[in-house]
Amino acid sequence: MKVCPRCGSESLEYQPWLGEIYQCKDCGYRSSFIIEDGKLSKEIRKEFRRGKREKAQKLTLDKRAKMREKMLKLFVISILLLIGTVFIRIILKIAG
Ligand SMILES: [Zn+2]
Repeated sequence: MKVCPRCGSESLEYQPWLGEIYQCKDCGYRSSFIIEDGKLSKEIRKEFRRGKREKAQKLTLDKRAKMREKMLKLFVISILLLIGTVFIRIILKIAG
């Protein structure tokens, strides 16, 4: 059984015209180096999936952090606006 060493997929396409090269249909890996061990391929698949999940989690966290930053900025701006209007009212009272 031939397995992709990057993602552990078994859907490898043999491309002899490129010089004994295999291409993985799942992750696009292309090389003459492939593995043929069932146990190892299972491990690779597991690691690959975990890596993907970790990447997805990191993206979500980044997005959340950015949103929080945006909210904080909006909050600060509205506070400044509020203080500004209060100041203008006080100034108008003093002047008028
Ligand atoms: Zn692959």
